[in-house]
Amino acid sequence: MSFFLQERKEQIFTKGVDSFDLVGGKPSLAGSVSQRACVFCGSRVVLYPIVDALHVVHGPIGCAAYTWDIRGSMSSGLELYRSSFSTDLRERHVIFGGEKRLFQTLMGLIERYSPEAVFVYSTCIVGLIGDDIRSICSQVERVKNVPVIPVMSEGFQGTKKDGYKIACDALATLVGTNNGKEVSPYSINILGDFNLAGELWILTDYYRKIGVQVLASLTGDGRVKDIQNAHRAALNVVQCSGSMIHLARIMKDRYNIPFIKVSYFGIEDMSDALYEVAKFFRCEKLMENARSLVKNELTKMFPLLESYQRALCGTKAAIYVGGAFKAISLVKALRLIGVKTVIAGTQTGSVEDYELLKTICDDGCILVDDSNPIELSEFVKQTGANLFIGGVKERPIAYKLGIGFCDHNHERKLALAGYEGMLNFAKEVYETISSPVWQFVNSFESK
Ligand code: SF4
Repeated sequence: MSFFLQERKEQIFTKGVDSFDLVGGKPSLAGSVSQRACVFCGSRVVLYPIVDALHVVHGPIGCAAYTWDIRGSMSSGLELYRSSFSTDLRERHVIFGGEKRLFQTLMGLIERYSPEAVFVYSTCIVGLIGDDIRSICSQVERVKNVPVIPVMSEGFQGTKKDGYKIACDALATLVGTNNGKEVSPYSINILGDFNLAGELWILTDYYRKIGVQVLASLTGDGRVKDIQNAHRAALNVVQCSGSMIHLARIMKDRYNIPFIKVSYFGIEDMSDALYEVAKFFRCEKLMENARSLVKNELTKMFPLLESYQRALCGTKAAIYVGGAFKAISLVKALRLIGVKTVIAGTQTGSVEDYELLKTICDDGCILVDDSNPIELSEFVKQTGANLFIGGVKERPIAYKLGIGFCDHNHERKLALAGYEGMLNFAKEVYETISSPVWQFVNSFESK
């Protein structure tokens, strides 16, 4: 494998061949052209779906370009979160400071939009020039009487994963500041679902049907007031644990709220997510409801899934996603529709996550941490993968290699969570693989 940098060899592992611990969580190697995004990107991915908050990027306009407006997070009401406001710092602010501009921007925006809270994101240049964002935020908060929360997310200080943690710290300042909502004895918070293509609504409907109240969603279709009340839920149910586990731990320490980790992707994991919640409340009625919901859904789904399974038999998939829990769920879901995973990689997996991933992958599967386009392309060629599942940065890799691509990131417009999401996923994979376009593409094999 001469195409990968030798310093990365402990981050690439072939199941059935290698026997070391696959290392995750390392800083990206210079020269490797990591697929990871910056700290600021990690923070905004987590916080932007709070729909009634104002999101202000203190920095050059370019940092604000990639907003939730081109992502799939949906709102059941307000659309304030879709505007990515920026202080648009220029050279003169770099020289003389941007604090005055930030203060004026915040005052003007709060006056105009009356948000429930404001998140102010710090970017690289602000970290360098040393604007005192915390002080400006508290000044504005005092004058306007609305929470103004600094998010100290300068892009250079780490990876996207550090941005998740900073976002969790920002959320923690809101949690516990209101007691106004009515709370059922069977109440949960959903952590780490971003309501892509309305997935949160599918999940809250399942929980409602089994008798569980979703008190707050952090952060898909999120509302500031719900988040302020979130300390009163009996349980935190954490999906995408890479992004939200830090908040779950903070809430356990401060409010003694236990948490469980789940995934809503694939039949097995979705069903477990319902059973685990019912089990937590030790209520036979909830468990009965969960069993009956799962049975009804599976009865509808299985005949359809079997037809996809027959059609997709022999397909080999490459997975490269943000978090390891998603990768684990994907391997299981693909197996259910007859697709074998031959590459499984993540941007933010830990050593423990990779140990789990190893146990569910087949021999010969290449596992990789914090990969880059050259490695991923070579792995596809080596394994003969004919389908790539990833995000916006992996799409061109797949198309350049002449293989199918399915989006499983925040840009997608198709719900993939829950039982109906599993059916959507099977259909999407089937339509991608069976598209007639591939017969006209000169695949890498014939070049
Ligand atoms: S790395 Fe820095 S400059 Fe680039 S988008 Fe992130 S915060 Fe902005």
